[in-house]
Amino acid sequence: MSHAWEQILRQTDPQKEKDYTIYTGSAGIGYLALHSALLVESADPRRRHFVDIARNYLRGAQATLEGRLRQGRHEDISFILGTPGVYAPLAVLRRLQGKSNDAVEACIQRVLDLAPLFLNQTHHHPRRQHPHYEFEILYGESGYLTSLLYLNSNFPGRIPDQLLSEVTDHIISGAEEGPGGALLWAWHGKEYLGAAHGVSGILLALLDVHLQGLRLPDVVLERIQCTVNYLYSLRLPSGNYPTRPSKECDDRLVQWCHGAPGILLLFVKAYEVFGQPKYLAWAELAADVVWMRGLLRKGNGLCHGVAGNAYCFLAVFRCTDNDIYLHRARVFALAAQDDIVAAHQDTPDHSMSLFEGLGGLLALYADLLEGDPRQARFPAFETRGVRSGTGTSHKEESYGDGKA
Ligand SMILES: [Zn+2]
Repeated sequence: MSHAWEQILRQTDPQKEKDYTIYTGSAGIGYLALHSALLVESADPRRRHFVDIARNYLRGAQATLEGRLRQGRHEDISFILGTPGVYAPLAVLRRLQGKSNDAVEACIQRVLDLAPLFLNQTHHHPRRQHPHYEFEILYGESGYLTSLLYLNSNFPGRIPDQLLSEVTDHIISGAEEGPGGALLWAWHGKEYLGAAHGVSGILLALLDVHLQGLRLPDVVLERIQCTVNYLYSLRLPSGNYPTRPSKECDDRLVQWCHGAPGILLLFVKAYEVFGQPKYLAWAELAADVVWMRGLLRKGNGLCHGVAGNAYCFLAVFRCTDNDIYLHRARVFALAAQDDIVAAHQDTPDHSMSLFEGLGGLLALYADLLEGDPRQARFPAFETRGVRSGTGTSHKEESYGDGKA
């Protein structure tokens, strides 16, 4: 693990990096370091090391982001590809460093101030005024919702219910009517099913709102169940899922962004909310497909890489307690570092990043080796509930640092 960290630190530079995002930029490495810091004991010297890395990368991301905005670039609203991906982790880091409440609050407020950008927009179908303010996780409103949920799970009660409610309502009111009353959203004029651009990612965020204690209206929960059932009805003979409703024969992609893995995560979430055994059974069927189709050749990241698919096994593991899924996650994690496997993989464009590269694998290692794998969540996508007292699995809440 330390060798992989050395590789990342050697090959990336937060002061020069132009990509500030969680997806492939400095905020992703900062998020990873913060995640790692929170998983080790407070007395462990690695915590200070990880906090230092998180600070360097998040502050580098912040400088790049603010520089872009000063040049007139528009503000992106999602957690993974926008401003919240810098400021929400920075709020958690500042608290860990023992910074003042004002310093923490400034970061939280920076995220909250983004809401009017899209809440004040009316919907224009099939394409809206601003393509970045559509609904999907990677760029859209559900991606903003993820950042609110991340903050709410780290600072329980801090995010006003009213704001969560308004954002949730806005997303639902932008849905189109699908077969059997299913909710569908268009991205760039087309409907997608997977986690990154499609309905499964959006529904997962909505269900996480419910799991965090803001009960969704029964009528919305019914529509979500209709949609989950509809998704299952699109299952291909292989057990995989197509990228779009109209692409019945599209059986190529088995990765978080498109195909069974992202939809599996939604099935698990539906099981956690509705408690119906069929959803868990569907998740297990999808997990078999992810396992049988094997290792991805596109690197080790989260979006379309080995680590992302391994997190799907951990999601099923936490609901079934069946060790086979933990075993599968470990096999993927180990195989990803095998020289023979590496020789058959392509090198992603951002080979050190969280969502495309080695960073994703390091997040997986941290969850497998330092944390409780049952508590693991797909990074920057799934959040933990706050009602059950599992708002954080962090081993200490504060860490006096003293440095700027
Ligand atoms: Zn992808």
